[in-house]
Amino acid sequence: MTPDELHALWKAALGELEVTVSGANFKTWFKNSILLKVDRSTISVGVINSFTIDWIKKHFENDLISILNKHYKKHELKKIDYTILAQSRITKTKAIVDPNQVSLLSDSQATETKPTNISAQHAANSSNLNPRYTFDSFVVGSTNRLAHAAAIAIGTKDSKDYNPLYIYGGVGLGKTHLIQAVGNAILKQDASKKVIYVSCENFMNEFVASISSGKKDEFKKRYRNVDLIIMDDIQFIAGKVGTQEEFFHTFNALYQQNKQIILTSDKVPQEIPGLEARLSSRFSAGMVADIQPPDAEMRRAILQVKCQEKGYKLDPEIINYIADNVESNIRELEGALTTVQTHLAVSDTPPTLSDVQEAIRGMVKQNKKKKQLSTDHVNSIICEYYNVEREDVVGPRRHKEYVRPRQILMYLLKQELGMSYPNIGHYLGGRDHTTVMHGFDKIDKELKKNSDLLGEIQEIKEQLYRV
Ligand code: ADP
Ligand code: MG
Repeated sequence: MTPDELHALWKAALGELEVTVSGANFKTWFKNSILLKVDRSTISVGVINSFTIDWIKKHFENDLISILNKHYKKHELKKIDYTILAQSRITKTKAIVDPNQVSLLSDSQATETKPTNISAQHAANSSNLNPRYTFDSFVVGSTNRLAHAAAIAIGTKDSKDYNPLYIYGGVGLGKTHLIQAVGNAILKQDASKKVIYVSCENFMNEFVASISSGKKDEFKKRYRNVDLIIMDDIQFIAGKVGTQEEFFHTFNALYQQNKQIILTSDKVPQEIPGLEARLSSRFSAGMVADIQPPDAEMRRAILQVKCQEKGYKLDPEIINYIADNVESNIRELEGALTTVQTHLAVSDTPPTLSDVQEAIRGMVKQNKKKKQLSTDHVNSIICEYYNVEREDVVGPRRHKEYVRPRQILMYLLKQELGMSYPNIGHYLGGRDHTTVMHGFDKIDKELKKNSDLLGEIQEIKEQLYRV
């Protein structure tokens, strides 16, 4: 069969199948597929990863074969063979047989199909990924759920819904682990994918070195010819004009080819000082998700996982003690475990609680927290104070009488509960994090010159903490 005939057959079959499958599912699994050949009773189909093969086999294979048989009369078709192809090869083939589908890849960018048995390890090495960082070893809890969900969608479902994915949060909270897990998962499915992990600092250093050694083109090629770029700690780009310019072009080149971009930082794009507006708006254009410090339950879960990984046997009471007292971040939790372990190494008996207390004394925070507030509690006190209804504050109405309490709510959720802008937006009926930032800033600025407002907020706070 000619390429045109193959294409026509595939198109007809998929057209029929599409009616019976949900739209999103269909797009996910068949968007990047081509019919390669029909050889007697065997059909060869090209897809982009092994995940797709499993899925098609499990859910659509029988239907596909019978539909194909309706359209193809020469032989009875019985079997499908699958081949994994580079995205560029699929795009190219489609563009040849169906010129309406404009290919975004130029010839020089198209890579040849690679055999899929290249060791994932090898591919991982050239991507700078640490194989230890996987989804399997990542504990999910309320404070990282959103970031994790987006990462999983990109890493295992080939989703392009979150582009760019921008994850921010404090040190030691798992940003690097999570984003590298995406890269590792993608390479595990398809070792021919080009994945690059780079810290912002290394990107900068390489860029500068490429200019001084006259190899700027090589640098460009390296970073603009990938399926996934993961850039860690992007806040360090602040104030570096040349690197920002270069990254702006890298970003656009990848984005236009529908390649995935993942970034991390310690703050939202709008708060990185010295970051050009054109970059900050691009960084915010996809999904912005935060990771907050783990709560007690999650700290316990993490300790249990780490003990298992390392083969430590600790009493539940000791795990609880560490979880309740080492609160700041996950790197510290790991540090506490190592300290306990070092302590153990010099004695033959299992550690007692007081051994552990002694060992990690320096890590335990003194004078613990003020009263724990809930979002709903803060909301209801504000509603009472301004005599408005909860629905009006959370809802979309823009009357002045609701906007004010809403902004005060944004301010207090941030200030008193330490909630992130995206989470506050989520709580307030799905508002964008930039809206929340704007509300927060407005109150924050006004407080400095409006003593009436200051008084109101003080009264609200008193009511919040009243026992
Ligand atoms: P960040 O990049 O946010 O500073 P890292 O990703 O370097 O933090 O994480 C610090 C350490 O804590 C790493 O050893 C990582 O494996 C571990 N860690 C962080 N989050 C988790 C998690 N949710 N589950 C398991 N380990 C975690
Ligand atoms: Mg990091």
